[in-house]
Parts: sequence; C-alpha cells; structure tokens
Amino acid sequence: SRDQIHYFGAGPAPLPTPVLEEASKVLLNYNDSGVGITEISHRSADANAILAATQQALRQLLDIPESDGPDGYQILFLQGGGSGEFSAVVLNMVSAWVGGKLKEVGGDEAKLAEVVKNQLKLDYFVTGSWSLKASQEAARLVGGEHVNIVTDSRKHRDGKFGVIPVQSTWTATADNASTALTYYCDNETVDGVEFQSTPTGHNLVADMSSNFLSRPVEVSKHAAIFGGAQKNVGTTGITIAIISNRILPPHAELAKPELLRKLGLPVGPVVLDWPTIAKNNSLYNTLPIFDVWIAGKVMERLLQIHPTSSGPKIAGQQAESDKKSQLLYSTLDSNSNVYHVVPDKSVRSRMNICFRVKGGDDAAEKAFLKGAEERGLLGLKGHRSVGGIRISNYNAVPVAAAEKLAKYLQDYAKQA
Ligand code: PMP
Repeated sequence: SRDQIHYFGAGPAPLPTPVLEEASKVLLNYNDSGVGITEISHRSADANAILAATQQALRQLLDIPESDGPDGYQILFLQGGGSGEFSAVVLNMVSAWVGGKLKEVGGDEAKLAEVVKNQLKLDYFVTGSWSLKASQEAARLVGGEHVNIVTDSRKHRDGKFGVIPVQSTWTATADNASTALTYYCDNETVDGVEFQSTPTGHNLVADMSSNFLSRPVEVSKHAAIFGGAQKNVGTTGITIAIISNRILPPHAELAKPELLRKLGLPVGPVVLDWPTIAKNNSLYNTLPIFDVWIAGKVMERLLQIHPTSSGPKIAGQQAESDKKSQLLYSTLDSNSNVYHVVPDKSVRSRMNICFRVKGGDDAAEKAFLKGAEERGLLGLKGHRSVGGIRISNYNAVPVAAAEKLAKYLQDYAKQA
C-alpha cells in the first residue's frame, strides 16, 4: 500500500498524499454540489475560482510581476505537454519577432522578406536530451538555417551530456536584433544536469518542466517560462506557461497568418497560440479544471508548509530540496568505489540524480534495483536512452524517503 513504499519516478511523479485524498473526494462531490469536479463546466463560477486561486498561488510562490504594462506576466494553462511548448515557443516568438520587424521596415514586405532570410535566428543551448529535442523541433518548423546552437555540451565531453560549457565558449547570435529567442532547459530530466544560474540571452525562454517550484526564478529576465505539470506540480494534462506582456498584444505587434505564410514561416494551431490563450484567460477551449485544481492545491500546500515572513515564498521548498539532494549526493560520493555520478559536479541536478553502479554492467544495476524494490524504494530505473539509476527528488518526495534511500545506498555499497 501507499504508506509502505517511497516512489522516485521521474514523471509522472509522486503527489502529496493529502492532496490526493482530497482529490478522491472532490471527484465525487465538488463543493457539496453533488457534482464531481471533472463533471463541472470549465466556464462555471467554481472553475473560474479554481483558476484564479491557482494563478494567485503561483504568483506568490515565484514572485511573478502582475501588471497590464509591459513588465507584467500572464499565467497560462495549456495542453500538449512540454513537447507542445517546444513547438509553441517557436511559433509565438517568431510571430512576435516578425511583427516587430514589419514595423521597423515600415510595412515594406519585400524588405521584410530579406530581413527574415538574412537575420532570423533562434538560439538554443543544447545541454541534454530535452533541449536537443526542442532545438530539433525548431529546425523542423523554421528550417535548420535559422537555428543557432549556442552550445552543444556533448562536444565538450566525449559525445555525452553531463556538463554546461563555460560562457566563454558559447556562440550566441552576435546581434540581439536577430535573436527571436534564446532557449534553455533549466533542468535536464534524463541527464541530471541543472543550470546553476540564469544564462544570459536575448528573448530568453526556459523549459522548467522538471524543476518548477523548487527554487526562486528570475522571472523578469525571461520572455517565457513553461513546464509540464506532471513532475513537481500536479497531474499529467496541463502545461503551465508564464508569458511576458512584452510579447503579447497590445505591447507586441504580431505577424498575421497571411504574412507568415507569404514569408514561408509556419502558422501554428490556435490552441498553441499564447495571445489567444491569454486573451481568453486559458478558457479558449475546454480546460481540464481538475488538473488545475490539483496544481493549485499543491501550490497552496507549499505556501502553508513553508511559511516565510520575508524573501521568496519558495525558499522553504528550496531548502528542503537542497537538503535531500545533498544527503543523496554525499552518500554516493562517499561510496565512490561503488557508485559513479554521471554529470559533472558543477552542474548536478537537485531534482534528477543520475548515477551508475560500478561493475558498470547491467547485472550490478539490476541487483541494485531489486534490492531497492524489496525495501519499497520504487521508480529508480534510469531513462531508457541512457540506462543507469535515476533518483527523482521532486517536492513530494519526503525527507524521510531520501533518508531511507541514503541508508539503502550505504547498505548496498557495504556488501557490494
Ligand atoms: N521537458 C522536460 C525537461 C521534460 O522532462 C519532459 C518530459 N519528461 C518534457 C519536456 C516533455 O514533456 P511532455 O512529455 O509533457 O511532452
């Protein structure tokens, strides 16, 4: 049963038990109406209240600037997962860039076509398999000639991910006027690589799917931030996006579909169009309001269990994440005859702890996983593309679970 195990899955991932207990009740009867939460209209007063409360909790946790002016940010709930946003960032950022250029050339479409051909660049940091996928989607949509790889960390480390090369080696597009977006994945879930600070870049876009709500974020340095909910925040089904007003009307001029078509640039599905979703407060089409409710409850719980009188509201959760990951890494390091942590020490993820069991062969890792399962420690197998062991240390993994796992790491090392 649930209280006999600890689950370290990489996503979908554990959720706080009290939230799931409440969820099982509201599935049958929301707000004493007799109607279940998945049955209510996404346009009802109840649904609107859920949406507003979730947006409010997220604004508090990450200090997201609230204003209608250019410095404000909108919080959107979308579908299509993190992968949907790989496409959405390209479609929306390119539309905003082209719209801006049209104004600069005074509406001259022939001139604009030249500008697009010669200048348009999408900069990508490739530091793991998810940012690689995002960069490939950009090349699929706009053509590889418009995609500039700022860094590919495999080139700095035997063809494998596991470092973030130093800034002096980055090859960002020199002229900011050309850069429609600069993309990075804050935490690479498969490779266990996490940025230790916000990288520099023009029109910065971040994928925070796997470290959302685990530390403060410099929101105002970004044009857009997104994350699938199914790791630190909630259930599979919604993606959260934090979008700068600077790339939304009325602050940004956007390219019309007819113009994009003429320029040979992609026109995306309306459900991925941030301005449309923002204008409709995420209710353009049927929003899975149960998923929003879960995310809201998880966020409200973070505010409750880590109260702060000053400073960022997410600081308490950050301290807990750091404590758990430090315990696990120090246990691995102090048994380095048995365990080998995959990424470089300088970029180790607090969320996805990737290591190999020495002997290096499958048999050693199978034995490790079997022993873990016998102790009720589940979900530790590494991603199929890289193998090895991966401990996902998301917010809903209790300190006691990390302690039990650290004890197992010790015990296994002793007898190995
Ligand atoms: N980005 C990151 C960092 C991820 O870990 C994942 C999924 N594990 C994705 C994007 C893709 O998300 P989805 O499966 O929701 O499309």
